[in-house]
Amino acid sequence: MNTVRLTLRTWLLLLAGLSTLPLLVLAASVLWSYKNDQQRVLQERLKTRTEVLAQSVGERIKTAVGTLQGVAESNAAMALDVPSLYAHARRLVAHNPDFRAITLADNQGRLLFLTSLPLGAPVRSLNAPERVTEALLTQSPNVSGPFASPLGPAEKVVAVTVPIVRGEVATHALRMILTSESISDMIDERRLPAQWVAGIADRNGTVVARSRAAERYVGQPVNGEFTAAVTGKLPQPFEGTTLDGVKTINHVLPVFGVDWYLGVGVPTSVLNAPVTDMLSRIALVALLWISLSVVATRAFAGYLTRQMDTVVRVFGRDELSLPAGQSIRVQELWDILQGFWQAKQAESAARSDLSTVALQRDEVQDLYDRAPCGYHSLDHQGRVLRMNQTELGWLGLSREQALGRPFSDFLTPESQAIFRERFPQFVRDGSIKDLELDMVRGSGTPMPVLVSATAIKDAQGQLVSTRSTVFDNTDQKMMEAQLERLARTDVLTSLSNRRDFYEQAARAIAHSRRHHTPLSLVLMDIDHFKRINDTHGHAGGDVVLRKLSHSLGDALRETDVPARLGGEEFAVLMPATALDQALAVAERLRDTLGHTAVTLADGQQIHFTVSMGVTAWQPADADIDATLHRADEALYRAKHAGRNRVEQA
Ligand code: GH3
Ligand code: MG
Ligand code: MG
Repeated sequence: MNTVRLTLRTWLLLLAGLSTLPLLVLAASVLWSYKNDQQRVLQERLKTRTEVLAQSVGERIKTAVGTLQGVAESNAAMALDVPSLYAHARRLVAHNPDFRAITLADNQGRLLFLTSLPLGAPVRSLNAPERVTEALLTQSPNVSGPFASPLGPAEKVVAVTVPIVRGEVATHALRMILTSESISDMIDERRLPAQWVAGIADRNGTVVARSRAAERYVGQPVNGEFTAAVTGKLPQPFEGTTLDGVKTINHVLPVFGVDWYLGVGVPTSVLNAPVTDMLSRIALVALLWISLSVVATRAFAGYLTRQMDTVVRVFGRDELSLPAGQSIRVQELWDILQGFWQAKQAESAARSDLSTVALQRDEVQDLYDRAPCGYHSLDHQGRVLRMNQTELGWLGLSREQALGRPFSDFLTPESQAIFRERFPQFVRDGSIKDLELDMVRGSGTPMPVLVSATAIKDAQGQLVSTRSTVFDNTDQKMMEAQLERLARTDVLTSLSNRRDFYEQAARAIAHSRRHHTPLSLVLMDIDHFKRINDTHGHAGGDVVLRKLSHSLGDALRETDVPARLGGEEFAVLMPATALDQALAVAERLRDTLGHTAVTLADGQQIHFTVSMGVTAWQPADADIDATLHRADEALYRAKHAGRNRVEQA
């Protein structure tokens, strides 16, 4: 086998052909048992039908015998009253179409009457005289085989002979002539299944009646097989051939009481018809199966060759290369199929790996896009290569709108400057951490962010892209701003505290020095504040402090800076304000406060006054302390001059 070389297609066709073998064996065994079943059922039917038919023929003959015996035992018969017997017999024949005629014979073989002729007319000699002799001898009835009718030689008849026994002596016999036709009627074709044949033979093996072509075969001898079956030499049922040459399966039974035999035959063609029918169906299915498998095999061989080409191309499995038409041995075929199978498995494993990777990639992409922070990558010029959905959302941009744009486009002008300054530095260092920038939201408002980034560089050290994270810094910035404000604000009055006052003063001085603009300072102190505290409690004093702060806010300009320097001492820095203007403002303020009443929760009213010292900053003042010192001196003078006054220095 190993030396046989066939093409792949031929091998596969061979395999397909082999695969049909078990099916064919199965079909044959099914057919065989089907045939046996059919045969058994048919034999059973044949036997039953033969029994029923034999019984019914026996009954009919016995009825005829019984009727004739009735006449033979009548008074007319006992008295041998021939005319009466004749009349009786004629009546019987007239009423029964099966009865052809009735005759009366004596022991000499003479015929005394024949019902079909008038009484006394000359009658021909007796047929089958030995049956009369037998009936008289045995004193019992008998039935003859067929013989030519005395009434017309073309007609075959049988005779039922009954002795008339008078005083234990039988001298005469009555004979009834039955047409062979009427007996054949008993086993008529119409009483049998289609194509079945039935026949009756007498004890001599002569055909008495037949279901088909009776006129041809009645009187003829039966064939050897029938005789053999009658004598028990053939087991029942037996196969044989009918007189007209049809192959049949037969069953033969005696017709009891008549000395006849009934045979029924089924043509073997009837038995074989369903088997042949089934055989042709099986053959058709087998043919279909084989042609289908040939078509499928050819298609599969083509598919296999194409797939193997792919395997060779993709996986480089050259050993699987098989040019069409090249012949191979069994071992090679086996190796190729195995190799092909392995390659297919490898392919499906690779496919499932790919789909897993795709799934993981999607997950990673989702994480990237929906992270709580912004992610982006920039190229060496700071242009956007990638940006995640979170950051795009902050900017109010679509991916298409963002990609390729310089990242600085998305920053406030101040941050743009920072970015431009820090980017080259970042490219050099390779990383940056928590750079504070302000991005511009889609709504146009700035958004403080913290940017950290690492640089991805190629082998030459050139920046390929950045890997940047962007954290929303809004909350942090807001908190910082709040802390900053708190650090500069007086808690009780919400005015600038001493620290903030000093910082603002330093800036104002710098400005005035640079721009040669005037700068004035008012220092004020509440008069007899201890008394207010004493009278209305510390809380009452606080209400006064807050009232004064409010009044300052109302009376001053935007650019003026009021501050609580401590206790009940306040200062107002007045940029771009000359001394006389400041004096006027201070005077007006003093007057207003002097007419301001503070109403407490219990309805009490507090009136208070302030004393003020006003001075102008001078370029010679090293810092605000010098200016404050002069203002303090003026305030001191105001106190000494009686309080509720404004003094200048
Ligand atoms: P003068 O007219 O000379 O200024 O008299 P005065 O009573 O106001 O004297 P001084 O300015 O020395 O007194 C300041 C008082 O202010 C002392 C202190 O008890 C009180 N004081 C300081 N800070 C607070 C504060 O935050 N709340 C209240 N209720 N009282 C304060
Ligand atoms: Mg004071
Ligand atoms: Mg005071």
